[in-house]
Amino acid sequence: MNSGQYETLERLIAFDTVSVNSDVPAMEYLAELLDGAGFHTALQRLEIAGVAQANLVAWAGEPRAGGLIVSGHLDTVPAAGQPGWTRDPFRMEAAGDRIFGRGASDMKGFLAQCVAAARALDRARLKRPLVFIFTADEEIGMLGAQRVAPALPELLGGIPRPDLAWIGEPTSFAVLNAHKSICAFEVRVRGRGGHSGAPEMGVNAIAVMGKAIAAIGRLQAERRAARDAEFAALFPESPHDVMNFGVIAGGLASNIIAEECSLKVTYRSLPNRDPLELYREVERRLREIDPHDYAADNHRAAIELGRPVFAPAMRAAAGGSLERALMAATGSKTMRGAPFATDGAWFAAAGITTLICGPGDYDQAHQPNESLSRAAFERGTDLLLNVIEMVCAGAA
Ligand SMILES: [Zn+2]
Repeated sequence: MNSGQYETLERLIAFDTVSVNSDVPAMEYLAELLDGAGFHTALQRLEIAGVAQANLVAWAGEPRAGGLIVSGHLDTVPAAGQPGWTRDPFRMEAAGDRIFGRGASDMKGFLAQCVAAARALDRARLKRPLVFIFTADEEIGMLGAQRVAPALPELLGGIPRPDLAWIGEPTSFAVLNAHKSICAFEVRVRGRGGHSGAPEMGVNAIAVMGKAIAAIGRLQAERRAARDAEFAALFPESPHDVMNFGVIAGGLASNIIAEECSLKVTYRSLPNRDPLELYREVERRLREIDPHDYAADNHRAAIELGRPVFAPAMRAAAGGSLERALMAATGSKTMRGAPFATDGAWFAAAGITTLICGPGDYDQAHQPNESLSRAAFERGTDLLLNVIEMVCAGAA
């Protein structure tokens, strides 16, 4: 454990890097720390939804093939308006055996450990490149990782890009080697408004959305029944595609025929599937719906499907030096899939074998009074140094 890592975490938590805010001041702070530790650094500037954001790439070691990427996201989910907070989300507090603050587990604690490891390690021992990548926008669209992964050859100034990546998302140090793809889309129903006493004058968008929900729900039940034995060990609770109805909005008043209704849906598909296959199936089923409501037959509603936003699945082949190093350092015996998507989707899409393992706790992520165990925080830096030694300094 390095005493400076508490100070780094305290500073990181104090930057409000909720995804919609600019992460640039916090990323510049991290760049300065890694620069001070003797790393080459490059900020990749981005504009996401009109806001200036940045990814940070920092590297050290000899420019040979076979290095290691260690990565985490700097953005966090919001805290304002989330019920249950009894502490200031942006002020780190250590109380008992926990460290509190937004992002403590997901995943500023890991970033603070990366800085501590960068300061503590003997760079002269790195026979292969060690590359830290800190990203923007993971919690919303993973656009930071989507942009940084293909740009690495250029950002690294010609040193060989590592083919292994370790993402320190909160897993309580379990080693995870896969996750499903994720896809989000919106269903919009446009009906025809009017007085509720004269249903023949309109068509009710909420009623037709009900049919759309039933059609998507039947598809959801079919997928749930189609358990894929190949994924029984990776995703024991749900070795199948999963779907969720996230947000619904529609209607103006109880005595007006609802003219519009919208629904936000996400689904996650198994790693061996085309991530857009289920979207196309939803599209097909929605075309089969009778677009009249139950009250009259005069008018038809229009059912539209919005553009899908997706990130691919991740599935690392078994074996390899990072897997061996993480298993040895954590004492884990088995690997399984993650129930959440990560930046690893885009690293994997760029041909980088990616594993997930971090000090935070998944059940703390996105929660009020988010916290991280002090023991995990203090142990994590030595664990990082261990893994870096095995992958970047050991015999190839
Ligand atoms: Zn995260």
